[in-house]
Amino acid sequence: MKTEQYLYVHSFESMAALDGEGIRYGVFLTGCPLRCVYCHNPDTWTVAGAPFTPKALADKIRRYKPYFGDKGGVTFSGGEPLLSAAGINETALYLDGYGIKYALDTSGCVPLTDDVKTSVSGAEMIICDVKMWDDETYLKYTGMDMANVLDFLEFVTDSGIRLWIRTVIVPGINDSEEILDRYLTIISRFNPEKYELLGFHTMGFFKYENLGIQNPLEGRKPLDSETLYRLQSYCNTKL
Ligand code: SF4
Repeated sequence: MKTEQYLYVHSFESMAALDGEGIRYGVFLTGCPLRCVYCHNPDTWTVAGAPFTPKALADKIRRYKPYFGDKGGVTFSGGEPLLSAAGINETALYLDGYGIKYALDTSGCVPLTDDVKTSVSGAEMIICDVKMWDDETYLKYTGMDMANVLDFLEFVTDSGIRLWIRTVIVPGINDSEEILDRYLTIISRFNPEKYELLGFHTMGFFKYENLGIQNPLEGRKPLDSETLYRLQSYCNTKL
C-alpha cells in the first residue's frame, strides 16, 4: 500500500508578492541540501516543522484562494521544496481539483528523479536561484557543485515551462559586472523570461546566533540599493 507523504512546513506567507505572478500564498518547506554562505533561513535546513498530509496542506491553501484568486496561486519554497517533490505531487492533485496553480521557488540542486520531473511539469512556473557562476564557486559558497542545477535548468527549458532566474548579490563575492558576465553566459542558454538580482541582507543573522551556528558572513554589510540597481540594469541590457 502506498504511504501518504507528509510535508514539513517551516512557515506560511499569505501575501508573498515577489515569489511568482500575482498574489502568492507562500509555503516554506523544510530541508535543504545546500549551505549557502548568505542563507537567511538556516532554520529551514533540517527537516522539521509542522507536518501536513497533502490533503490537509491543500485544504489550508484553499482557504486563501479568495485572496490570490485566479491570477495568483501558491508558491512552494523553502529550504529546498523539491526535496519534498513526492508530497508536492500529491498535494498538487488536490490543488488541481480546487482550481489552484502552483509555482516552485527552487535552487534546482536536486537530482532529476521522476518525482522532481512531475513536480516541475505540473508547475505553472519555476523560479530558480542560480547561486554561483561555476562549479568551483558553487562548491565554495554552497557546498555542492552546479551539475544538478544545469541538468535541472535544461529539463525546465526543454519542457517549455515558464522560467525566472534569480541570483543573490553579495558584496565582495559576486557584485561586479565581470562576474555577472559569467552568470549571463550560463543563464542565456536557458532563455528565462526574467533574470532578477536580489540584494544580500542581514535580517537573518539573528537566526545563526539563536541556532548556535557559525555565520560565515558575520560582519558583512548588506548590498546597497544603488549597486543593486546598477547591476540589474547591466543584466537587463545583456539578456
Ligand atoms: S538554498 Fe536557500 S535555504 Fe538552502 S541554504 Fe541556500 S539560501 Fe538557504
